[in-house]
Amino acid sequence: MDGMLDLLAKASYFIAAVLFIFGLKRMSSPVTARRGIQWAGIGMVLATLVTFVAPTTWGAHGIDPINLGLMLLAIALSGVFWLWGKKVPLTDMPQMVAIFNGMGGGSAAAIGAAALVTAAGHAGACDAAAMAAHACLDATKTTLAVLGALIGAVSFSGSVIAWAKLDGRMDKRYVFPAQQLVNAALMAGALICGVLLVLQPTPAMPVIALFFALALVVGIAMTLPIGGADMPVVISLYNALTGLAVAFEGYVLQNEALIIAGTVVGAAGMLLTQLMAKAMNRSLGNVLFGSFGAAGEAQAISGSQKPIEASDVAAMMAFAERVVIVPGYGMAVAQAQHKVWELTQALQRRGVQVKFAIHPVAGRMPGHMNVLLAEAGVPYDIIADMDDINPEFAITDVALVIGANDVVNPVAKTDPSSPIYGMPILDVEAARNVIVVKRGKGTGFAGIENALFYADNTRMLYGDASGAIAQLIAGMKELDGGGH
Ligand code: NDP
Repeated sequence: MDGMLDLLAKASYFIAAVLFIFGLKRMSSPVTARRGIQWAGIGMVLATLVTFVAPTTWGAHGIDPINLGLMLLAIALSGVFWLWGKKVPLTDMPQMVAIFNGMGGGSAAAIGAAALVTAAGHAGACDAAAMAAHACLDATKTTLAVLGALIGAVSFSGSVIAWAKLDGRMDKRYVFPAQQLVNAALMAGALICGVLLVLQPTPAMPVIALFFALALVVGIAMTLPIGGADMPVVISLYNALTGLAVAFEGYVLQNEALIIAGTVVGAAGMLLTQLMAKAMNRSLGNVLFGSFGAAGEAQAISGSQKPIEASDVAAMMAFAERVVIVPGYGMAVAQAQHKVWELTQALQRRGVQVKFAIHPVAGRMPGHMNVLLAEAGVPYDIIADMDDINPEFAITDVALVIGANDVVNPVAKTDPSSPIYGMPILDVEAARNVIVVKRGKGTGFAGIENALFYADNTRMLYGDASGAIAQLIAGMKELDGGGH
């Protein structure tokens, strides 16, 4: 019977893993992403259900009540988070990802802790029966349990700090002298404890305790000095590390679903981290140990911000040949995407060519703008990536910037003392006319002035994105009513 159940569990874990992989593949395009998430979700439900019948969950005297209680508690908790996830606005998604990610890392660390503590309390021989019952660990399992626990614990405490920062509960950066040295010493301490645990015939409890304490402090210490726009990159990195930790602990538990899911998350997370770092023109080392947001003396910006009326903007756009719309974080906050699509259609009816320009890190997470525009029904063929659209700004009559700031700031190209210097930006300033929709003089995520707003060819349409775009639509209708 056990043999049958074991086979069933292993086959189900394999199917779950295949669903994860194909689900992830489908997530690579906005057209198929929704289905991909559903596939991966089905895989997760299958993996969860099968755990209830897997022989490892059952002891000689039936199911372990503690195991059962913990599993039910985990499912109840995930239900609570599911409800919470449904309510969270897209703009707060990075914080939520940070928390979820932290829990993944924490779980991996907890598996490592349970394996090491159980092994520490195991008195008898470490034979095949003891190994199968997860009562003791061989050298490979100890090494992977320690590595997974270290990475998982760092990812857990680091993600909690990242959540607090993204949620505005903590100041952006904490820097003190010799910080990198202190961090290196803490990391070295955790690694020495880890090596001791691997070398000792039976892991010693005080070393286990010190190891976890140091690993948790490393996560906090590493994340405290990171600030500004680097936070989402760090979350993505912790996501990748969590995947790796889960894969290692999957080997300790001999659970194929955990090994494959962890590897997939680790690899995907690493690729995403690299893409995001590249989009900001920063190396990963620079993100982790560099000085984003370092206070340099910013170059003075001359000129003034020149306001414009919505009716004038509507006329300017209605008689334009080419319009490029640049959405940013402000459009997401105002949930203006539906009105923006309405405006686009009104322009298209008049024969104006409209395109959307998407910066890879516009908003607060990768793909943020694509998700919003897709939700509003904007067709993919008029949405262009930064590299494709940048050469087109020079032949654009009107660039309409809606709640974007840092991703269109030319100081990234001109001011070496700027914290965003070197970050690739959308070359909006090359357009004949630039209209910027924002509420007032608020800065973007990086907290710096934007030279674009003071340029000769830029006019500011002040107001909430939703209200301002509604005014533009009304202005267009008036023009249409006027016989155009
Ligand atoms: P920003 O955060 O730079 O700017 C948003 C602007 O929107 C603000 O200046 C604000 O000005 C305006 N705004 C806010 N609310 C509204 C509203 N209701 N209506 C109209 N305007 C509004 O956004 P960007 O998208 O340009 O840049 C994203 C930032 O995030 C960059 O710094 C980027 O580096 C960073 N980042 C993003 C990542 C990602 O994965 N997406 C990853 C890493 C970093 P005002 O208050 O005057 O209205």
